[in-house]
Parts: sequence; structure tokens; C-alpha cells
Amino acid sequence: MAPTPTLAPVADQVTLDEAVAHVIARCEPLVAGPVPAAAARGLVLAGEVVAAEPVPPFANTAMDGYALRAADTADAPVTLPVVAEVAAGHPAERALAAGEAMRIFTGAPMPDGADAVVMVERTERLDGGAAVRVGVAVEPGNHVREPGEDLRAGDVVFRPGDELTPARLGVLASLGVDEVVAFPRPRVGVISTGDELVPGPAPLRPGQIRDSNRPTLLALVADAGCEPVDLGWVPDDEAAITAAVETGVATCDAVLSTGGVSMGDIDLVRVVLDRIGDMRWMQVAIRPAKPLAFGRVPNPDGRRVPVFGLPGNPVSSLVSFAIFARPGLRRLAGFPDDRLHLPRLRAVAGEPLARRPDGKTHFVRVVAAVDRSAGGRLVVASSGGQGSHQLAAMARADGLVVLPDGPGVEAGAEVEVVLLSPPRAVGEPMSAAAL
Ligand code: AMP
Ligand code: MG
Repeated sequence: MAPTPTLAPVADQVTLDEAVAHVIARCEPLVAGPVPAAAARGLVLAGEVVAAEPVPPFANTAMDGYALRAADTADAPVTLPVVAEVAAGHPAERALAAGEAMRIFTGAPMPDGADAVVMVERTERLDGGAAVRVGVAVEPGNHVREPGEDLRAGDVVFRPGDELTPARLGVLASLGVDEVVAFPRPRVGVISTGDELVPGPAPLRPGQIRDSNRPTLLALVADAGCEPVDLGWVPDDEAAITAAVETGVATCDAVLSTGGVSMGDIDLVRVVLDRIGDMRWMQVAIRPAKPLAFGRVPNPDGRRVPVFGLPGNPVSSLVSFAIFARPGLRRLAGFPDDRLHLPRLRAVAGEPLARRPDGKTHFVRVVAAVDRSAGGRLVVASSGGQGSHQLAAMARADGLVVLPDGPGVEAGAEVEVVLLSPPRAVGEPMSAAAL
């Protein structure tokens, strides 16, 4: 027997900040545990990493050249006998004595007795390599990398809240750390709802459209550092939506659905979430992405799993993800408060950005460029059609200008932009000199 549809819940009229705060407060960080470093890319540390050994572990040469005693070069040019070759991974078998040189290659350990390296470009090879003429006087320590110059044993290298970026994974490897204590990567299920939707390339029957939200959201989830779980498509049917959400909360750390959260009678996602969770249905004073159903649904393990009922319009679901879901998912992933949101920067409107007053904050899809000829300021211009169904213009956008209620702004006005991707460059072409 199909469950009896519950009466539609009542929507709360909320501000953008209220809605964001509501979501974030209900997405608690997952339980941290040990994770192999090889699987930790993008995870957030829950514990400190302390260096157990110095990096580099021994004094070594930063240059190809000759190891020697600096004092022996005081009267340069001088000629010294070359008594050995020291390559990376092959320490010298004996110490260097006064008046001697050893051929040495980058990364090789400094021989005992040597205190400096003369780079090969400042030398001349003599007698088939049996001797070297050193053209310059050098100081002790020249081109020598001391042990611990990068990290000393006992240094606190990383702290809780640090994201394991590629460079940080490299630092762990440089210390021989192969396991860390980190927050797990949240598994995030994605469901699309709507009788009209067709997944994939099948021919469209009258009234049907293609399901573009699910692939978009699965990719956004991965970009946000979470593991996407495709929970498929369901029709506008209360039992089917309930089953999909229940599967999602049983197998995932968060669930995103799209569609079914507007004002209409067949917008069943909010009805389902109200029945099986502690859902709050919000009408946020923004455009696009006004409706948002958010709640937590208990699962068989006793966890209360956050569920986001995102709007169905493609641009709305994307904006809603960027503004509400992404910060919530990043909180589950253990990111600290100052790393939850996309960066918001000041920019200059490169053209008028018109809008009509309607009591809402508008998110205008824009291309954003760094203008090198104008001191590197960020300039924005509309990326195209601003309808909530116009996904192509959204896909061209680098950011969302946050336009407060009112008539819009003139060209040259200062605006605030939420960056979706790094801006492009205009003006002088990128060159090494400009970097
Ligand atoms: P809804 O929120 O279900 O009322 O849907 C609002 C609009 O978004 C309607 O025009 C839907 O056809 C469209 N829509 C809903 N879900 C999707 C989807 N997964 N992919 C593309 N368009 C969608
Ligand atoms: Mg629908």
C-alpha cells in the first residue's frame, strides 16, 4: 500500500545568511580515524603531524661540482687533486683531507672533512679528471644543504584542519609518514526526481527533458573533495522518493536530491523529508535557488544524515550546491570555518549589471578576468542568459556576482563576486617575467 501523502509543510522565509548558518550548524564533522597517506589526497587532518626525523636527513650538496675545504680556495685559482666521486645515494668511503677535492653530484652526502662545494661551472677539469682547477674562493657552507634545513625533528609540521594537498602529501612522504589521522571523505549520494526526466541519450518523448542535474551534481561532489554515489533517478512518486532517500541515508554520509521542492502539489521531496526527517523547508531571499529543503534523516545505524532537497532548475541546483550544500559537505569533511565557502572577492563591473528590485539578493552568472593593464583588478561581465534553466550560460561563468536588492549597478561599480573557478587573464600575455 502506498504511504498516505502527508500535508505539505509550511515554508520559512529566511535570509541567505540564516539559511547558510542553519545548514552548516547541522553538518557535523564525521568521525576521524587513521587513513593511509596514499588514500588521503584532499582529506582534512584531525591530528598534528610531528616530524620524527630531520629533512634533509644529512648534509648534502645543492649543486654538481667539487666538495672541498673552503680554506683551501682562499688563494684561488688553485689546483687540487680529485680523490673520489660522490654521487646521490653513494656516500664517500673516506673523509676528505686538507688540500683535496672530491667530484660531487646534486643530492650526494657531503664527505666528512669537506665544508663547501664549488659549482662545476667555476672549475676546470685537469689530467682526465685526476685534478681540478678551482677559479673562485668560497665560504664554508657554500652550496651545502644542512640537515633539518627544511624540517627539524620535533617540528609540528601540520595541524588539525590542514587539508592534505599534493605538496603536503609530499612533505609526509619526505618524513616517511605513511598514515595520518584524518576525517573520512564524505560519501554523498545524488538522486534526481521528476516524471519528465530521461537519463542518457534515449530519444525524448513529448514533454520529456534530459536529466542534466545528476551528472552535474555528481561532478560537483567530487570537486568538493567528497565521494559521489549515484543513487539514480526516481519519478514523482512518494514511495519511490522515500525508498531512494532511505537507501541514500543508509549508505552515505549526506544525500542531495534535485527537484520536488517548489510550491507545487507534486513537489514531493519536501513532503517525504518532512515525514521521515526533521526537515526545514526554506524560501531563501535569493534568485536563483530560492527553495531549499534541508533536514536530517535518521538511518539504521542511528546516524542523522543531512539531506539537501535542492531545486530542480539546473542553474538553481548548481547555485544552491555552491552556496548551501558545498559548505555543509566541507564541514562534514572536517574543514575549518574559514575554509567552508567559495572565495568572495571585490571586483569591478565591466558593463552595467541590471536587475529589478524584488526583495532578493541576485546571483549573476559572470565571466571574471584579472586585468593586468589595470593593476590586476578583477573585472566581471555577464556570461549570458540569466534564466534558471539556462545552464549553458552558467557553464561559461567563472563566478556569481552577489547583487543586492535594487536596480542593479552601472559599469565601473564595485561588486562582490563568488569565485567558482580561477579567473582568466586579460591584458599583457602571461610571461615568465610577469610571474
Ligand atoms: P522542480 O523543482 O521539480 O519543480 O523542477 C523545476 C524545473 O527544473 C522543471 O523545469 C524541471 O523539468 C527541471 N528539472 C528538474 N530536475 C531536473 C534535472 N535533473 N535535470 C534537468 N532539469 C531538471
Ligand atoms: Mg519536479
